[in-house]
This record gives sequence, C-alpha cells and structure tokens, in this order.
Amino acid sequence: MKNELLRRALGSYLGFAVGDALGATTEFMNPREIKEQYGVHNRIIGGGWLKLRAGRVTDDTEMALALGSSIIEQKGFLLKAAADNFVNWMKSKPVDIGSTVRRGLRDYVTLGRTESPYSEQSAGNGAAMRNLPVVLYCLKDWSKFEYMSLAQGRLTHNNEHSDRITLVFGEMVREIFSSGDKLKVLEIGNRLIREYPKYSYSNYKGECSGYVIDTFKTVMHFFAEGEYFEDTMVNTVNQGGDADTNGAIVGMLAGAMYGVNNIPSKWLRKLDTKVVDAVSEQTGRLLNLEVRVHDEI
Ligand SMILES: [Mg+2]
Repeated sequence: MKNELLRRALGSYLGFAVGDALGATTEFMNPREIKEQYGVHNRIIGGGWLKLRAGRVTDDTEMALALGSSIIEQKGFLLKAAADNFVNWMKSKPVDIGSTVRRGLRDYVTLGRTESPYSEQSAGNGAAMRNLPVVLYCLKDWSKFEYMSLAQGRLTHNNEHSDRITLVFGEMVREIFSSGDKLKVLEIGNRLIREYPKYSYSNYKGECSGYVIDTFKTVMHFFAEGEYFEDTMVNTVNQGGDADTNGAIVGMLAGAMYGVNNIPSKWLRKLDTKVVDAVSEQTGRLLNLEVRVHDEI
C-alpha cells in the first residue's frame, strides 16, 4: 500500500518535471510548426525559445520545488516562507518567469503584500502550475488543502478562474490517489464544467495558451484521451502553446494515474539529475510530514 502511494506520488512529481522539460522545446509553437520542425516531438532535447540544454526544467518545476522546500524547511505551511523562497528563486535569475509572478513577488518585497489584488488579468496558469507539493503534502489531511492552495496562489494570481482550476487539479490528483478510477477523476473536472460551461473541453479546438481556462481544457482533453503516460504527454506537448506548463500539469495527472514505472526511462534518464534527486526527496518528505499551517488563519 505504502509502495503504491510512493509509486503514484513519484510518478506525479517526476511526470510533472518531465512534462516541463519536454514541453519547453515546443512552447509558443503551433502544431504545424512543430510538425515541420520535429515530425513528432517526443524526445527531451532542450532548445525552444529559451534555448535550454536538454533535461533542463523551467519556472514550473523550479517554483514547485521552491514551494515544497518551504514546507519541508518550516515543517508546515507558512505563506511568508513560501513567498521568501519564491523571491530567492526570482533573484537567482531563473531562465523564465511569468509577468504576473514577477509583479506579485515584487509587490511582496516592496509592499509586504502576501495577497495580490483581485485582477481579471491574473488568469494565467502560474498559480495552478506550482501547486503539486501542496497536493502531496495535504493527502494525509485534506482539510488544509484549500487554504494552502489559495494562499500560495493568490500571492501572485488573485483570480476566480485561477483559484477554481488550481483547486480542481488538486482534487483530481487526490482522487487518483484514493480510487485510481479515471472516470471518477474526470468527473471532478466535469462537475466544474457543469457549473461553468465555458470551461468545457468537449469541443476542444486546441486552445493551449497560458490562460488558465485554456490550460484546463488542454489538460482535460489530453488526459481524458490518453491511455498511458507517453501518449498523453506526447499529444499534449505537440499541441504547442504553453507546452511546458500544459505538459507539466498533464504529467502530474498522468504520472499519478499510471505510476512512475509508466514514465519512459528515456525521459527520466534525460532529466537533470539534480531535479530528479530534489523531486524524489521532496516527494518522500512531503508524504511523511505532519500537515500543519503556521499562518494565523
Ligand atoms: Mg515554464
């Protein structure tokens, strides 16, 4: 049972990092350009608009690791500790950083603001993309999941769509851990769509930008269609657009669903070994740490 949990958790976090590293190559491209240049893009080769070396991850994985580290260092969730880790990461001159993230972190530093003001413009996927450590940490005590997710999210993205989709992705991962039943997992997303029909992916037309509703549609579409980790991931990143984040989030779901053994070893071997080590260590520690919130709420 314990091994089963670890197999899914490692699958989820490593699947997430693999999606980031694989998708970075096709970020901002469209399917036709990807086809012309790569045929089918299915190897971790780096490059892309960021000119990465093969196996390098981007802000998605780096921010998730920063958030996970803060929980481990504090033996619990403390919003300011998470914010400080994000700021330290920003100061390390990361290879990529979203504009909403940068603004939110800058306001934290200069104004001490731990919640960005509500904004229609803050509907990017930057909060949803980095929430996996909170999901893994809260599996033992889900009552704290919503607070932690929204707190870390609204530091930079205070927007109803971002809030809802960040939460629903977490609920889906949790359902994978509890039942492993893909229909039940998809039903969680479908329930949200019944309430907000504009999130529907039933007529998916390839909307794959960094707008969090597009991210939701893309991830739901390819996760629903996929049968194992590799096809799910390849189809997602060959859609282009915000391919690293879409790849990371679909990797989080598919990795949990199919387990770490289903992630092709050709991808795991290419992934930056420092990232593999950090992700593996965090996964074990987040699963074992007692769930606590240090903020006064
Ligand atoms: Mg990225």
